[in-house]
Amino acid sequence: MSIAYLNGQFLPIEEAKVPALDRGFLFGDGIYEVIPVYAGKLFRFKQHIARLENSLRSISLPLEQSLQNWADMCHQLVERNQLDNATIYLQITRGAYLERNHDFPANPTPTIFAMITPLPSIQRQPSSQDLQGISVITAEDIRWQRCDIKAITLLANCLLKQQALECGANDTILVRNGVAFEATSSNLFMVRDGVIITPPLSEHLLPGVTRDFVLWLAEQHGILTEERLIPEHELLQADEIWLTSSTKEIRPVTRLNDAIIGDGTAGPVWRQMYDHYQQLKVQLYRGEIDSNSEGEIAL
Ligand code: PLP
Repeated sequence: MSIAYLNGQFLPIEEAKVPALDRGFLFGDGIYEVIPVYAGKLFRFKQHIARLENSLRSISLPLEQSLQNWADMCHQLVERNQLDNATIYLQITRGAYLERNHDFPANPTPTIFAMITPLPSIQRQPSSQDLQGISVITAEDIRWQRCDIKAITLLANCLLKQQALECGANDTILVRNGVAFEATSSNLFMVRDGVIITPPLSEHLLPGVTRDFVLWLAEQHGILTEERLIPEHELLQADEIWLTSSTKEIRPVTRLNDAIIGDGTAGPVWRQMYDHYQQLKVQLYRGEIDSNSEGEIAL
């Protein structure tokens, strides 16, 4: 049975209950983070907590918690669930009050919830499924204007993902005025002539922790990167397309609206990046790195 965290207590997930008047339930008034854990270490933790704090600021929800407090809570979840590789889901809402009222409460008592789910152990070689890649469709982005906030209000994302599934595809790349920004739960990358390209940060996409990591990793290995807008029609000219997220890492896209991307399997730049990513995880397992020179890999 999985052990979760709710408002200061660790308890079996089935017993973690939130009042019906919680603003997360009534208004979707909350934010969240998803943090990967490899070899018991919280991966890119500072970056995840920095984004969490940014999301809290963006929705004007004050919460005093030190990085160390968050780390202690997450480490306890890892230990109590005896997991080495996992993802931690952390959600904060503006809390529960006695009536349903749009106005923000003067002194909010946030609801803090976290749970953990296992991840597969390190995979040094890509599986045949990885190499096959996934298929995506494109669709107009019907989400709001603040996609840079990691808000729990994900109905539009769910509708857009469902649209892909009903077309027999795996995901949807979201387009505004002919420009592709990201997918329903991941960032977008394209490779052209050996250059890794991703859209610049804006209010139309989430500042993905994996996105930044992939850019950093590419630069470490001398692969050229570029942050610029990607017109939807240019995706068809891509040598490779990838989607990135903390749980998916780097996932190759090999079909786009029924067109084949590259040769229809994961491309050579993806393969290089896959190896670099896994290599770094191996170093974490071996205890060779806890943090890189920037002190930012794992805690
Ligand atoms: N974009 C969206 C809309 C997401 O929901 C996510 C992750 O959940 C990402 C991008 C990737 O973010 P990260 O790499 O921090 O997991």
